[in-house]
Amino acid sequence: MKKVAIIGGGPAGAITALVLARLKFDVVLLEAAAGPFQKIGKCLSPNILPLLRKLELQDLLITGHKQSYGNRAIWGSDQIRDHDFISSVYGEGTHVNRQQFEDSLAQEARKAGVDWRYNFSAGNVERGDQQWIITAKDKQINEPIIADFLVDASGRRAFVGRSLGAKREHIDNLVGVTAILDDCKLKDSFTLIEAVESGWWYSAGLPNDRLVISFMTDSFLVKEMEVNKPEVWLKMVQELTFTKHRIGDIKVEALKLEVKQASSSRLQFITGQDWLCVGDAACTYDPLSSYGITAAMGSAYYAGCAISDHLNGNNDALQAYTFLMDKMYSNYLTMVQEAYFAEQRWPKSIFWKRRHANFFPN
Ligand SMILES: Cc1cc2nc3c(=O)[nH]c(=O)nc-3n(C[C@H](O)[C@H](O)[C@H](O)COP(=O)(O)OP(=O)(O)OC[C@H]3O[C@@H](n4cnc5c(N)ncnc54)[C@H](O)[C@@H]3O)c2cc1C
Repeated sequence: MKKVAIIGGGPAGAITALVLARLKFDVVLLEAAAGPFQKIGKCLSPNILPLLRKLELQDLLITGHKQSYGNRAIWGSDQIRDHDFISSVYGEGTHVNRQQFEDSLAQEARKAGVDWRYNFSAGNVERGDQQWIITAKDKQINEPIIADFLVDASGRRAFVGRSLGAKREHIDNLVGVTAILDDCKLKDSFTLIEAVESGWWYSAGLPNDRLVISFMTDSFLVKEMEVNKPEVWLKMVQELTFTKHRIGDIKVEALKLEVKQASSSRLQFITGQDWLCVGDAACTYDPLSSYGITAAMGSAYYAGCAISDHLNGNNDALQAYTFLMDKMYSNYLTMVQEAYFAEQRWPKSIFWKRRHANFFPN
């Protein structure tokens, strides 16, 4: 039986592993973290549902998450506009509890036969004569793992792709300055997007009256505005016209901010001899699109099929996967640029000017 090693146990790694295990490959997955943990991206559009149904995973979104009936945006004018999921053929979206969601995906992969190892990080990858040798490290041991095919599902770091020489090409340098707040009783279940002169805010309700709220801006503006300081961030939220009504009585001392890269980017090349990248390792998407998790899982489904075809002797399978990913990314770029063009209220703002250029300069 051919063996596939997957580095990274996020949504992309989990789905690739699940698809391959169901196709009867021997799959080992290394995840550096000790277990599933809360990650920042949480809004799933209804477009994920056909894939979940195809994989018979639709029940994973039933409990412990929060339904979302649409997006509400103050974007391009100072009026609120609703994009209701009621018009979507797939039904409503979801604000996911990421930890629970990723735990469920890992359990499904294990049920399908994946050797899923938490607390193991891939330290080194080498190509032998015909196979890969991966050094899997936990706290005590270094264990060599031999595999016929290697999958990079390590997220933005693209651990394998970059160690094999592929550079990441960023379109912009968007970052998110994010907090998760307790005791925010929302009266609606929308994702709220509010554009401001130096970027935009998004907020979404989570189970148990929690709210995820992010300020999206350029990394150099974070430094200039000092918005990574809790007192500055909170003052900005309190000055917003709409988002301010979503937060409760927040004490600045209790605020924990995380600054994370959120740029659109792709790796120069995403496949090679018996390896490929999937999910964020291959391409990353602006959170404005709520596309990251869906794209990670969608690309993982196609990656699983391409790897199976490749290992069964189809020499074009990896090229077909690259073609598909290129197409997805270029369609996405058109879509995200149109969205930024729709906001023209601050022609002098550096943040918006950069996004109205054909391709955002870094
Ligand atoms: C601010 C922000 C907001 C976002 N909002 C949304 C949103 O609303 N909706 C949405 O769909 N997406 C959103 N995203 C994007 C979304 O979170 C990602 O697209 C998604 O997590 C990608 O999944 P992945 O499996 O490719 O990578 P990840 O989820 O990053 O998983 C990669 C895994 O690999 C592991 N790993 C890394 N290196 C190694 C190693 N050497 N050995 C072993 N394991 C390793 C990591 O521990 C990690 O668990 C947002 C992102 C940001 C930054």
